Amino acid sequence: MSLSPDRTVAELRELQELTGDANGAQRVAWTDTWERARQWLREKVVPTAADEEVDEAGNQWFTLPGESDRALLLGGHIDSVPNGGWLDGCLNVLAAVEVLRRIAEDGTPPLTVRLVNWADEEGARFGRSLFGSSAASGSMSDQEELRERRDADGIALPDALAAHGVDLDRALEARRQLESAVAYLELHIEQGPVLESLDLPLGVVLGTFGVERHQIVFRGQAAHAGSTPMDQRRDALAGASKLELEIREIAKRVGGGAVCTMGSVVTKPGIVTSVVETAECLLDQRHLDATWLAEMLSNAEAAARKFAHEEGIEVEWEKVWSIEPIPFDDRLLDLADESVREVAGSSHRLPSGPLHDAAEVARAGIPTVMLFVQSLRGLSHTKLENTKDEHLELSVEAFDRLTTKTMQAFG
Ligand SMILES: [Zn+2]
Repeated sequence: MSLSPDRTVAELRELQELTGDANGAQRVAWTDTWERARQWLREKVVPTAADEEVDEAGNQWFTLPGESDRALLLGGHIDSVPNGGWLDGCLNVLAAVEVLRRIAEDGTPPLTVRLVNWADEEGARFGRSLFGSSAASGSMSDQEELRERRDADGIALPDALAAHGVDLDRALEARRQLESAVAYLELHIEQGPVLESLDLPLGVVLGTFGVERHQIVFRGQAAHAGSTPMDQRRDALAGASKLELEIREIAKRVGGGAVCTMGSVVTKPGIVTSVVETAECLLDQRHLDATWLAEMLSNAEAAARKFAHEEGIEVEWEKVWSIEPIPFDDRLLDLADESVREVAGSSHRLPSGPLHDAAEVARAGIPTVMLFVQSLRGLSHTKLENTKDEHLELSVEAFDRLTTKTMQAFG
């Protein structure tokens, strides 16, 4: 039987009807609504006769045995942020269900095919993203910290997980799920404006950006706004302001999709009658290439030192968080390009700013690639998130072709 991409679109609407409200999707992980979505998914997969298993991290796996035990993985996440969109994460899952149906009807595939619905990609309730996939990849190393986390109602993370049959202490046992994997494929909405601006329905994801996140504190001297002449000020905000403008030049100079954001500046004493004594800035820099990311960071550090000197103030840097860039597999990138070109005429390669479960799988050393489908106005994590039906259907078609090509190349 052939693929029915229009069924995927209908099922996405059905899921939204079942688990959303007037404010958007409400499938926050470790809630009853999320569990209802998982039960709904379970029923959708039953006709394919795939075996279901929920692993130690709460990931839901559906396995269609092939001639070989080696497995091709298709992944997504059915959880959403509160008041989320109707496509983020669940398009991936439902496109994979459609591909699974097609494969099941075609007979025994050469490779085992496994659909994984990752648990808690969004981290919406406890502020920790990629829970299930980081457990499976083995990169989860913050279990002590996770034990202490509480949601807005004061419920501890281990208790919320236990209510859904997951024991935090055993979550890393999910690692065995990746032992037989030969490749991992994921389809996702872009969540950004690039494909729409190029008027292309589909793109191939090169990998996920590395991130360098720092707090930068400029220190000057508080002084009276009326009595301190302009040439005798040590104004911490002047350093912060120069740096904010310079990071845009740094991103432009480095290119290749580089982005730099100063998302917060807090000034003290923060009153209209005083020169600013301290300006605390939060800087986020991202690039797909580790060398260029390091270059961006050192450029920003040098610029901050220069501006501090010019303004007669001091500057200190402290790392908040970082992650290395995670490039996807070259061979799969080519197959993904072919698949996109076949269904949409032309393809485009782009990096992903957001992290995805696919990045965790790639980190575990499994050849990985993602397809992006255009997002209207680049909006996501809001009920306004949308993609044209015809583009959603093309994305299912391209994902199916990628599955077939990967099966041939890795089988
Ligand atoms: Zn997502």
